[in-house]
Amino acid sequence: MPAELRNVIYFVAAAMFIFGIKGLTHPRTAVRGNMLGAGGMLLAIVVTLIDKEILGWQWIILGLVLGSSIGGYLGVKIQMTAMPQLVALFNGFGGAASALVGGAVMHELISKGESITTQGAVAIAATGLIGAVTFSGSIVAFAKLQELISGKPITHLGLKAANTALTLLGLGLAVMVVMNPQAAWAYWLLVVVMLGLGVLLVLPIGGADMPVVITLLNSYSGLAACATGFVLNNIVLIIAGSLVGASGLILTRIMCVAMNRSLTNVLFGVMAEVGDAPSADEIYAGKVKATTPDEVAMLFDGARRVLIVPGYGMAVAQAQHAVRDLAGLLESRGIDVEFGIHPVAGRMPGHMNVLLAEADVPYDQLKEMDEVNSTMEQVDVVMVIGANDVVNPVARTDPSSPIAGMPIVDVDKARTVVVVKRSLSPGFAGIPNPLFAADNCLMMFGDGKKMVLELVGALKAG
Ligand code: NDP
Repeated sequence: MPAELRNVIYFVAAAMFIFGIKGLTHPRTAVRGNMLGAGGMLLAIVVTLIDKEILGWQWIILGLVLGSSIGGYLGVKIQMTAMPQLVALFNGFGGAASALVGGAVMHELISKGESITTQGAVAIAATGLIGAVTFSGSIVAFAKLQELISGKPITHLGLKAANTALTLLGLGLAVMVVMNPQAAWAYWLLVVVMLGLGVLLVLPIGGADMPVVITLLNSYSGLAACATGFVLNNIVLIIAGSLVGASGLILTRIMCVAMNRSLTNVLFGVMAEVGDAPSADEIYAGKVKATTPDEVAMLFDGARRVLIVPGYGMAVAQAQHAVRDLAGLLESRGIDVEFGIHPVAGRMPGHMNVLLAEADVPYDQLKEMDEVNSTMEQVDVVMVIGANDVVNPVARTDPSSPIAGMPIVDVDKARTVVVVKRSLSPGFAGIPNPLFAADNCLMMFGDGKKMVLELVGALKAG
């Protein structure tokens, strides 16, 4: 294939990636954006394989069918609550592929007796360095989220010293690969050391912080792919890798800001201890008011404006379709219904948006936190379904709280709040929530889906 034609096609693929990412910024265009990005990648892969003339068509088609089948199967089968684990695996495989390609190119050039330029050697060292850390770190993140190993932070005293030792050893080996690119053993030793470092870096981080770690590893996998692009001299891989690297980093930052935590705190610190804060018993004793679906149905009868605030529990209960039916029913009675979406509700960015979109909730009903907060006092009934930390007012009122300063949906300022959850147990941050004992709050205890279905039944019967 002429180099000009190949480069034009690469340019088109790169443009498809960029417009694909642009599409992902809005729910309405997200599916199209996803298809565009995937189409760009297909184009880039096929053109590269044809251009290299190393594989026959039958192998290209076989690879595409096999890869698409595995991807399609996983995409359809995976539960939305297990999506972070799947992304961790994808990142890990990306990192492993980069490290293996870096090593393979090194061996090929050595066996052909060709010299490796300094730029090539730097790129090869970078694939080993970043790719291997990404692979082992992602596998540990996957194992924690899948509960194959304990999600608790593992903080042995020697861990920090071992991390420092492995980091220094890894950097030393990377320098050795650059100085002497004929030393393939140094490359593979580098890979082994970085595999160890990846494990030790992620082990001390708690399971609940894994989504942040995964977006960071996502960024690493992009950087590793970018380095592989330099190794192979492949422009489109450099562009795709840079896009993944940058967007992963931006997403990591957005998540940290939404939790009011620094990246250093997520990576190297355990969530702040609760300190002298009042215990759950002190906060809840004698103040929590339980309610029933029949009572809540009566409450809705007098409401004009309703806000639904979903959280992780809605995902666990798979209540999104029942919630959509509830919203539809209320709207059919002339009630204005909106959804208030916190940026880190659930366990991954956009978790709630994806679930509600899957249940065909119209996008224009999904409102961002700041938008709903500005008019919260005018909301007649807020229904919180399986959310806890993202509606906990201590973030505003108690500077010593582990979630102090985290922006929250100010549901406590609405006229009445109904909280649907199974018990008074805390959310991810592990702290009591004074909202549940507030004068304007009613607790509807039970599984999210079951309670919403009963509420729909009560509304229809009423
Ligand atoms: P939380 O984890 O604070 O609370 C979820 C609540 O759901 C629990 O209190 C639980 O109470 C309830 N629940 C669980 N299962 C069910 C069920 N079947 N039916 C009804 N309720 C149920 O969730 P939020 O969404 O409010 O907050 C997300 C937290 O995760 C934040 O602290 C955020 O910082 C953190 N986080 C989010 C990330 C993201 O990207 N989204 C990334 C990293 C962390 P009960 O057991 O009583 O039912």
